[in-house]
Amino acid sequence: MNSKLTNLLYLAAVSLTIIALLSYPLIPKRELFLLPNSAFPTFSLVDKETNGNSQAKWLKPDHSMWYCNMKKGAKIPSCNFGQYFNNDISQWHIGLNLSQYQTINFDVNYQGPANYIRIYLRSFDPAVSDINEFNSAQFITTTIRKVDFNKPLVYDFNELHLADWWVSEFDVPKHHARINLNHVTELGIDFDEKSPLGEHTFQINNISLSGDYIEKEHWYLGILSLWLTGIVLRVVYQLNKLYKRNKQEKIRLAEMTNYAQELKQKSDTYKNLSITDALTQTLNRYGLQNHLQILLENSATTQIGLIILDIDFFKRINDKWGHNIGDEVLCSVGLLLNNSTRQTDLVARWGGEEFVILCPNTESPALFSLAEKLRIEITQLEFLQDFSVTASFGMSMMQPTEQFESSFKAADEALYKAKNKGRNCCVVTPNFFNKYG
Ligand code: GH3
Ligand code: MG
Ligand code: MG
Repeated sequence: MNSKLTNLLYLAAVSLTIIALLSYPLIPKRELFLLPNSAFPTFSLVDKETNGNSQAKWLKPDHSMWYCNMKKGAKIPSCNFGQYFNNDISQWHIGLNLSQYQTINFDVNYQGPANYIRIYLRSFDPAVSDINEFNSAQFITTTIRKVDFNKPLVYDFNELHLADWWVSEFDVPKHHARINLNHVTELGIDFDEKSPLGEHTFQINNISLSGDYIEKEHWYLGILSLWLTGIVLRVVYQLNKLYKRNKQEKIRLAEMTNYAQELKQKSDTYKNLSITDALTQTLNRYGLQNHLQILLENSATTQIGLIILDIDFFKRINDKWGHNIGDEVLCSVGLLLNNSTRQTDLVARWGGEEFVILCPNTESPALFSLAEKLRIEITQLEFLQDFSVTASFGMSMMQPTEQFESSFKAADEALYKAKNKGRNCCVVTPNFFNKYG
């Protein structure tokens, strides 16, 4: 994701959040219309059962107007109206769950002599109420002044309270003396005991309940949760990206390491080729000088024994058996020299049929013995064509301070003498055994 798009997304998210925060009041409310014209049955009651004479009736078929003439007769004259929330009287206790509503709204006009009017809800509380006794349902109420009644009123359910008589009559313990709106069975309007006799008329424009579909706390919590989810997703995305990048880089690093190894191998191969004589697999001149330089740089190296050997009458072999056989002889001698010397000795083909051997940290007697051993081994080489080969050896001891060239020259002179002596022999420089003489 490029940074421009990311910035746009952030901007969009912040804008949406601000809109969501501000738009809470615009979310439509959950509403339940009670009177008039609702599905629930209405009632209109008077004090007949206590031998009263009061009369009450609905003045309009849609039950939007109620009239009561409260007359003397009963000990406590009364009349009231309202709604039941269950059509089936045997299931009265189930009622209506109003717990999701927060307010009860009244738009009712009153005309009559009462100064205070009471509204109430009855609610069946399984912990206290008895199915066989209607009166045991909670009595949730508030009293409204006449002057307040003639304009739209909104009551939060928190502003209603349980009637004291209900708490005392049913001996309700403190932990059950709280409003329970899960099974509201009835809504009613009546007068308290001190209400005056006479004609009371109610014009019911609207009685309804309203509540939030989403509570304010839930709405803000939802927005917060979305942000948290977004942040978590973003972190996971970034971590995943980092992980993938890391993985790719590791692969790349491995590839580069392999490549570097390949290059090193190739470079080693070429280096070997450049210092090796292809025919005899001994060092070439360059290889010898290279190794010698390393040897001389190594302070542990003292004197170096130098052998030059030249195959005798090699030209004749070539002439008699052919160039290929001559090459074969060179290969065999090279192999023999490599195998019969120490790992630390340097064996090189100096040119044609001439080899040089450098033996670090070797005393002159040991060098002489080595030359003799090699000389004999060369004579013992066997070839298919049934001929034998000899070689002449010239030797010198290269002192720590001495140049290779001068030591080489001395050994070469010794070799020359060996040739003159009749070949197949070892000759040393005049001061070769000096230390031992
Ligand atoms: P001497 O005993 O005096 O050393 O006699 P020689 O015949 O060995 O020496 P000479 O220098 O006369 O001849 C060396 C010959 O080695 C001449 C040359 O053709 C041959 N030669 C040089 N390099 C190679 C090679 O790589 N392969 C083969 N087969 N012959 C080679
Ligand atoms: Mg030669
Ligand atoms: Mg020769």
